[in-house]
Amino acid sequence: MKGRKLLMIPGPIEFEPEVLQAMSIPTTSHVAPNFIESFGNCLDMMKKVWLSEDGQPFVVSGSGTLAMDMAASNLVEPEDKVLVVSTGYFGERYAEILKRYRADVTILKSELGNIVEQNVIENELKKGGYSILVFTHVDTSTGVRNDPKILGQLGQKYNVLTILDGVCSVAGEEIRQDEWNIDIVLTASQKAIGVPPGLALLVASQKAMEKWKNRKTPVLNYYADFNNWLPIMRAYQERKPSYFGTPPVNLILALEVSLKQILSEGMDERFKRHKKISRAFRNSMQALGLSILPKSNDIAAHTLTATYYPTSIDGNLFRKKLNEHGIIVAGGLLKEIKTEYFRVGHMGAVNRNDIISTISGIENALTQCGHHCNLGKGTSTVLSELS
Ligand SMILES: *Cc1c(COP(=O)(O)O)cnc(C)c1O
Repeated sequence: MKGRKLLMIPGPIEFEPEVLQAMSIPTTSHVAPNFIESFGNCLDMMKKVWLSEDGQPFVVSGSGTLAMDMAASNLVEPEDKVLVVSTGYFGERYAEILKRYRADVTILKSELGNIVEQNVIENELKKGGYSILVFTHVDTSTGVRNDPKILGQLGQKYNVLTILDGVCSVAGEEIRQDEWNIDIVLTASQKAIGVPPGLALLVASQKAMEKWKNRKTPVLNYYADFNNWLPIMRAYQERKPSYFGTPPVNLILALEVSLKQILSEGMDERFKRHKKISRAFRNSMQALGLSILPKSNDIAAHTLTATYYPTSIDGNLFRKKLNEHGIIVAGGLLKEIKTEYFRVGHMGAVNRNDIISTISGIENALTQCGHHCNLGKGTSTVLSELS
């Protein structure tokens, strides 16, 4: 494929050919026995990918924002006190969503490129009255990574439910939902799950389901209401037909293929691979004299990297040149510094060759933009890291 480009943005990502093939199978009925089996398999496999034996999985047609909306609308009742720990763009979005459902939202914002320190969160929770703690695992606007294990412990200690926006992390970053006490872990298909856009996915703990069951007021979102979807998920889990809203049949078939691939790699292997690839990528950027947005490597995401352009170059021109080398990366997302940095996704099916091509493309484009870098330095760094 001469015109082929490599899609290295933080979702949609490059998809495996077998996953894409499932998208072109003749569409069957959503109550056909083989489709019921596939949907049921997806729900069973999600529990393994999320490492949540006890959780209730949901798969609904929509994007990641719907998964955020679904968690918020089902768990929040008006006046509920919710603490949002924000590390960037998607934390802000979550606060907006929660306010729609009339939550009493307090937001703790990190400094640019940093996380909110544990003691700051703890001091806020100590004030009492909170029922939910919400945080983003990897904020896709900054490439900053929170530690869900610590936040889960805080949730347990202060008896609040925890919601993890894992849209840029599930199936890439380490998440152990049961062990780490995270009540809702949500994502979308087009990121590390490795399926074209269109599916909102979440797994809810029994504690989260209890909060929903004990609601005194109706869920303020018709489409997202667990009342509509729980019977459907249960039916597919029991391999029985059911209907509320027509599921995106081919996306579900593609999800089945992808989840199988994820589990055949193995979760521990997968977490390790993402760590290794991201470290190689970061080190190559640093070898080229570029700096990354996260304040330290310990809080840098393993699924994407946000890197500042050298001040001497025009970011749009750089991305255009890179595109001419066949590599598509994303520009900035955070309003304050939108034109100052770019983002490279390296999750899911990403492999060594993709990373090497991307880094050599970056070196080339930087040089073409007039930035003096030691051509080959990034590539040799990645080669030695990923040998
Ligand atoms: C992409 C993303 C979202 C939004 O997902 P959409 O599918 O675009 O609605 C939310 N949170 C995070 C962390 C993301 O990376």
